[in-house]
Amino acid sequence: MENIDFNNKKVLVRVDFNVPLSSTFQITDDNRIKASLPTLNYILEHGGALILCSHLGRPQQKKLENGELNVAKFTLNHLTSYLSATLNRPVTFISDCIGSEAVNACNSLKPGQVILLENTRFYPGEEKGDKEMAGILASLADVYINDAFGTAHRAHASTTLVANFFTADNKGFGFLMKAEIENARHIIESPEKPFTAIIGGAKVSDKMLLLDKMLDQVDNLIIGGGMAFTFIKAKGGQIGNSLVELDRLDLALQLMEKAKSKGVNLLLPVDVIAANTFSNDAEKIEVSSDNIPEGWLGLDIGPKAVETFVSTIKSAKTILWNGPMGVFEMPSFAKGTLAIAESVAEATQNGAYSLVGGGDSVAAVTQVGLSDAVSYVSTGGGALLEMLEGKVLPGVKAISE
Ligand code: AMP
Repeated sequence: MENIDFNNKKVLVRVDFNVPLSSTFQITDDNRIKASLPTLNYILEHGGALILCSHLGRPQQKKLENGELNVAKFTLNHLTSYLSATLNRPVTFISDCIGSEAVNACNSLKPGQVILLENTRFYPGEEKGDKEMAGILASLADVYINDAFGTAHRAHASTTLVANFFTADNKGFGFLMKAEIENARHIIESPEKPFTAIIGGAKVSDKMLLLDKMLDQVDNLIIGGGMAFTFIKAKGGQIGNSLVELDRLDLALQLMEKAKSKGVNLLLPVDVIAANTFSNDAEKIEVSSDNIPEGWLGLDIGPKAVETFVSTIKSAKTILWNGPMGVFEMPSFAKGTLAIAESVAEATQNGAYSLVGGGDSVAAVTQVGLSDAVSYVSTGGGALLEMLEGKVLPGVKAISE
């Protein structure tokens, strides 16, 4: 976007303002909005006017019992006063993103002014990737900037199709989007070796493409969290009542076989902290990960696993971390995940490049106050995973071509 002349231009910016709201509709985490501010301020400082559009939640899936949209819950108007304060100028909310109200407001928009359009997902055409809706949105502006990395893997009207209505010199990536793409590409295209990926979280099935792709690239693949038990079970271990996907045992075996044939060091936790119930104040024992007693569930990696994982992480030059090592939302089972966060930060301090992505690992580094101590914290969940899996994101493609 540095190559675009914004002076006197009306700029449609697709932002990701899908922020969590409290029951009284106060913003409880403004990170996504903050992440878009460099882009918004740059356009304003360079003489442009802003037409902001975003989705908020899933209003189509969460319609009221009478089939009506729950406007009170999903309106982006909840963000107007926060945005006015943050951008230091009045923000005009338009209660329909493509109707005549939007057309009139955009027609009389002056440089430095800001319009916030209503939730794009109030129209089913948004998620369907409706061309007509995209065309109407496009007609509001001279320039289109996409800064919503979190939805770049969706071919929606405002994230992808709209870009087709702008010429190459009138569309671009916002600074957040650019940083996300550059960091993901760094991991994909030029990782310094040794490269260690740490993949955790609940299910193998959610991350099988990522695991498979990583095996083509990494020197070490650390697998933790609930998904590790599918691998341990596939190897014949006793995993008690730990989380497992019985229909993915073959997949786990194939991935372990692939690791062997590629010479990748695949690390599973040798020990775990097991609990007698799924609760923070359950009774806890430290056991070998393949010998968990019946009725007990592995909810965190154990001290020996932490030691091995940490030493592998500390010797890495490139680190990708996606997904927690245990049920870190419960303080009793957060130790393993937090130890990993600390070692990723330490490796970064010693010169490694580290990318942390995926909501829960981001929450973990934030929880220990280390989000500034890693090289890059991605704002994208699904979008980042798809990029790392080697897919071309529709929202990225639409700007690039
Ligand atoms: P994901 O969204 O796939 O990254 O998974 C994150 C979720 O996995 C978190 O809510 C964790 O509590 C959960 N999780 C991690 N380890 C375990 C485990 N050992 N057993 C059950 N859930 C887990």
